[in-house]
Amino acid sequence: MTPKQKLQKDRAWFKFVLTGLPKPIKLESLSEIEQLFWKEILSARNALLNMHDKCSIELGLNIPEHRCWCGKPAKVQVDYYGTGELQWVCNKHININND
Ligand SMILES: [Zn+2]
Repeated sequence: MTPKQKLQKDRAWFKFVLTGLPKPIKLESLSEIEQLFWKEILSARNALLNMHDKCSIELGLNIPEHRCWCGKPAKVQVDYYGTGELQWVCNKHININND
């Protein structure tokens, strides 16, 4: 494995860990200060995810082509599920009502 491949693999793992971070939690089980910190963690996580591709390019890596859930090349990111989390989708699936 070349150093570049190792970097790509390590960054993919980092992104995978970040993506899985916000498991459903019961906010009401956290104190006020814990909820505040949790919101900051999620905000920082989203910022890291949004800059991941740009930073990969800056580090000299090729970024994989984004795919829609249907398998077609994705063109845009939208809040597909209305959760505040952006998903890559193809032109057909920009709207959740298209099947
Ligand atoms: Zn699609």
